[in-house]
Amino acid sequence: MSITTTIVMCILCDPARADKVQSLAHLNVNGCKALKTIPVLPNLIELYCSKCPGLTAIPVLPNLAELDCFACPGLTAIPVLSNLTKLCCWNCPGLTALPVLPNLAELYCWNCPGLTALPVLPNLAELYCFNCPGLTAIPDLPNLTWLNCSNCPGLTALPVLPNLTKLDCFDCRCLTAIPDLPNLAVLNCSNCRCLLTRPSVANVHDFGCPWLESRRAARLPQVIYLQRRCRLRRFVRLTTSRAFNEHFFAPSQKGGRWHKRRMEQDFEFNHKHIRL
Ligand SMILES: [Zn+2]
Repeated sequence: MSITTTIVMCILCDPARADKVQSLAHLNVNGCKALKTIPVLPNLIELYCSKCPGLTAIPVLPNLAELDCFACPGLTAIPVLSNLTKLCCWNCPGLTALPVLPNLAELYCWNCPGLTALPVLPNLAELYCFNCPGLTAIPDLPNLTWLNCSNCPGLTALPVLPNLTKLDCFDCRCLTAIPDLPNLAVLNCSNCRCLLTRPSVANVHDFGCPWLESRRAARLPQVIYLQRRCRLRRFVRLTTSRAFNEHFFAPSQKGGRWHKRRMEQDFEFNHKHIRL
């Protein structure tokens, strides 16, 4: 009796199959713990090499149209892939930049803390770059239709994206303005606590945005009440209430950020001091 041990090995790591890879059009090596490099494969159209902890680089693959390389902690760059249309590179902490990919239509790069900027991608239609704390700007993307850049605290503004129809930018706590986007139909900008202006959209979620014009008007009776009561010494505690601070310290005002932080800490959605 002999004991047979099966060693699961991807086609690239298996010396017995090495001669078979050159002509491949589709290659799946997802999850290979042994993989360190990928050879130049001139006919490759689709490459799936996600969750490969040892992988540090992707070669230039002239015909590649789709690349899945998410959750590869050793990956530090993506090469110029002139025919690439879809790139999934989320959860790659080593990525600090992406090259110009002239045919890219879909980009999934969420949870990439090293990304500080994105290139101009002329054919990009869908961009999912949420949870990227290093990202400080969204470039001009003339063909973008869907954007999810939620929870990106480095974003303070968005460009005019002429073809955008759906925008998710909730939890962007430093975003102060969303420009008029001529084709926008769906907007979720909830919890953008510094947001001063947003476009008029039929389908909108904007709770937790105290500085929007509509929110300020709704709070006016509260504020008048506070101003009147705060002249009396025994109501001095009201000056530390959320509503008071939200009115008197705008995000852009001197002291505003400090008061905002203090409000976040002490009065998280707590209006218990105010009874109208
Ligand atoms: Zn392998």
